[in-house]
Amino acid sequence: MTAERAPEPRPTGPQPHSGRRGSRATDVHDLVGRARGGDQRAVARLISLVEDGSGQLRTIMQAVAPLAGRARVLGLTGAPGVGKSTTTSALVRAYRHRGSRVGVLAVDPSSPFTGGALLGDRVRMQAHATDRDVFIRSMATRGHLGGLASATPQVLRVLDAAGYDVIMIETVGVGQAEVEVASLADTTMVLVAPGMGDAIQAAKAGVLEVGDVFVVNKADRDGAQQAVRDLRNMIALADRHEGGWAPPIVSTVAVRDEGIEELAGRLDAHAAWLDSSGELVRRRRARAAGEVADIALEQLRARIGALPGDGRLSQLAAKVVGGEMDPYTAADRLLDSVRPGVAAERVAPGPG
Ligand code: GDP
Repeated sequence: MTAERAPEPRPTGPQPHSGRRGSRATDVHDLVGRARGGDQRAVARLISLVEDGSGQLRTIMQAVAPLAGRARVLGLTGAPGVGKSTTTSALVRAYRHRGSRVGVLAVDPSSPFTGGALLGDRVRMQAHATDRDVFIRSMATRGHLGGLASATPQVLRVLDAAGYDVIMIETVGVGQAEVEVASLADTTMVLVAPGMGDAIQAAKAGVLEVGDVFVVNKADRDGAQQAVRDLRNMIALADRHEGGWAPPIVSTVAVRDEGIEELAGRLDAHAAWLDSSGELVRRRRARAAGEVADIALEQLRARIGALPGDGRLSQLAAKVVGGEMDPYTAADRLLDSVRPGVAAERVAPGPG
């Protein structure tokens, strides 16, 4: 079960999202306290504030920083229809049997819409809808700077700080999403299904290099054995970096919960290996480094964007057009002139 929680969760009566500005900081600490006490509305509210890049983002991140770092983050990716949602739901059930609190983030890199259309509407996930210790959230990332990487690490921290023991990030294997999900997770699962040419697609997308545990779901279908063999051959050929972990292939029939205990066992084995090899620390540091660099770049972009339109940038541009200055020197000058603390907290998402 989870470790110590906030001692006195405040009463959770109806508290509409008040827009009062005077009590912002207090609101954040109150929300964090309630989130740790198991109040799902408080968790949802914190995540919305983080996603919106609101003025409270920094206060929230400061409040959650000392509380985060305990959750296991599991990534799950694969083509549409392979059974990600069904498998996620089955794993949630397995972790709930162990008494773990579980957070699920369904990240849809192809959708500009947030909040519901993805996992929330799925019948299987609704089995967990009334469970106070399961928190499910859909996020859309299209149109956000940095795609999956932009707000997801911060949302993960919020869930971690709220005391979820296991956090699952489910994402459709489209474009860079599966490689990005791997950079956010401690353990990455790659799902394929028999037929569908999934094993082949997996190889193309580069997931063979990043998968820690491979799952051949729909093992009740013809061709499951073949899919396992194909996958095994491809993994053997893949250019994997870390020594010492041979990614297992687990066959599952997620709709019948078959193979799910074995899968959970493989995930445990990977967690143990991450600990004993020092890889967990390495991965988490790499993740934090990426996060810090992303935030710094966003800040820099915001500061450049906030320069007055007729000011420094236009002068430099005119010099470049006039041949008085090369663009690299102009960029150096621009960076010199961008002083800290000038711009907005966060860059607004670009158009589309
Ligand atoms: P996702 O798009 O990857 O999230 O896939 P879903 O979990 O929504 O599953 C897609 C379809 O495959 C649904 O109709 C599921 O009921 C079905 N499905 C999931 N797992 C299995 C399985 O192990 N065997 C079979 N036969 N069907 C499955």
